[in-house]
Amino acid sequence: MPTPDSGPYITRFAPSPTGYLHLGHAFAALFAYHAARRSGGHMLLRIEDIDPGRCKPEFEAAIYEDLKWLGVEWAQPVRRQLARLREHAAALQGLAQSGVVYPCFCTRKEIEAEIAKAAQAPHGAGATLYPGTCRELTAEERRQKFGDGIPYALRLDVYKAMVIGERNNKAPMFWTDFAAGEIECDPSPLGDVVLGRKDVPSSYHLSATLDDHLQGVTLVTRGKDLFHSTHIHRLLQALMGLNTPEYHHHKLLAGPDGKRFAKRDKSMTIRALREAGKTPEEVRIMAGFGPNADDAV
Ligand code: GLU
Repeated sequence: MPTPDSGPYITRFAPSPTGYLHLGHAFAALFAYHAARRSGGHMLLRIEDIDPGRCKPEFEAAIYEDLKWLGVEWAQPVRRQLARLREHAAALQGLAQSGVVYPCFCTRKEIEAEIAKAAQAPHGAGATLYPGTCRELTAEERRQKFGDGIPYALRLDVYKAMVIGERNNKAPMFWTDFAAGEIECDPSPLGDVVLGRKDVPSSYHLSATLDDHLQGVTLVTRGKDLFHSTHIHRLLQALMGLNTPEYHHHKLLAGPDGKRFAKRDKSMTIRALREAGKTPEEVRIMAGFGPNADDAV
């Protein structure tokens, strides 16, 4: 657990402006805020807006408004990822030059068909893994596809990357989670993730890892649903010579039905609760952060 003597920590809350913040986001934001405050540090705010199809300016504006209303404070400046895309694209180019990524021309449909065809499709962290189709293409096949103008993503060759990562790291790679302890890096549950999307020269994994480093984040707090992603991030840190922060993957707040809050739960957005007459204090309590909130993390 983050304690005042192991800080001061710089934490961050990193929402994607793809909808209104809900009670689960309130929990994550308050968790990051109090983890920093309790240690004598501060929280940063990062807008993860690289997905052009889903991110909307009105949701970004609502993030600032809702967090302020909730009483969450962040240190300036706010980092907006889309504005830094050039830096992220340059990092991707560096990874490509070191030979750890490959172009993937598959469409989602083709990947699904490939998986259905395979008798024993590899299964990762609850999701079905990319079967590696394009990893096996010959140089000639790649040239042909480039020539035909087929759109492509860039995927991390996890196996190759582990070899280079361990060499750079001069040892097996570990990372620390405040709840789960010391963890050996094992990116296999997510497999060959996308680092450069077809429409954007970066991806969540690449941009989040780079920005955590560039913003000087020392404690990443986020939901347990991203636990497996951290293996990928640890590997990227070793490949690119970035700092490894500490991590605290926290629980995901669930409603009375036991299901975690999601964007579809319109009645549980911070603004719906506010419009229904709740006070910020009441919403903080609903999220599990009462008057002794610094002790709740
Ligand atoms: N942007 C991500 C989300 O809204 C958070 C990613 C992270 O905390 O690393 O789920």
